[in-house]
Amino acid sequence: MEFRGDEGTTWIETSSGRLGVGKILCMVRNYEAHAKESGGEAPQEPTYFLKPSTSIIHDGDSVIVPPTTSDLQVEAELGVVMDETKRVSADDAYDYVLGYCVLLDITARDLQRQAIERGLPWTPSKGMDTFAPVSRMAPKDEVGDPHALEILLRMNGEVRQTADTAQMIHKVPAIVAYVSGHMTLMKGDLIATGTPAGVPRVEPGDAVEAEISRVGRIRVAIAGAS
Ligand code: MG
Repeated sequence: MEFRGDEGTTWIETSSGRLGVGKILCMVRNYEAHAKESGGEAPQEPTYFLKPSTSIIHDGDSVIVPPTTSDLQVEAELGVVMDETKRVSADDAYDYVLGYCVLLDITARDLQRQAIERGLPWTPSKGMDTFAPVSRMAPKDEVGDPHALEILLRMNGEVRQTADTAQMIHKVPAIVAYVSGHMTLMKGDLIATGTPAGVPRVEPGDAVEAEISRVGRIRVAIAGAS
């Protein structure tokens, strides 16, 4: 990965420049088909974990495979870019959405499984450097309904994930209302809304491209740790 010095990587590109990202909330099993393929049930309430903003990289960067994993997987997700809010209702939630992005939830699946078996947090398996590629933000008004979008992920040119965001179990307003009841959302915070089925395993040398209609696209290379 290109080293960006003091600037860090903890921002998302918008039409008016770079917006700093404070935290990333990632929804768990928010598509039925992915819940099934990951061997579990979709939770009744929106369920999420935190990824640090230091895991962010951008279009054209490389995801670095850490030497501690042999099962790195890429989940394509619709990301919601938030404005500052706290305890907002679902009815008012869209007033605090700035826009949307394509977000890749990079996961060291073997490390995540080991953590689950031992009753330990997932943070290392989801939060390493380069584990959150984000596209530039598409403004809310250009996207419209976030539940009428096509998600597509290609690995080495082959389509591996394809889904309609209408298939999300917990929808954006309900998610924003739920999480903002727990913690203050700051301008630039991101919410990853969960991945559909077909999550591919990747290795150094692979190329991943994800696209969401009306939102954008991100391309990353998978590279070994040097
Ligand atoms: Mg995910």
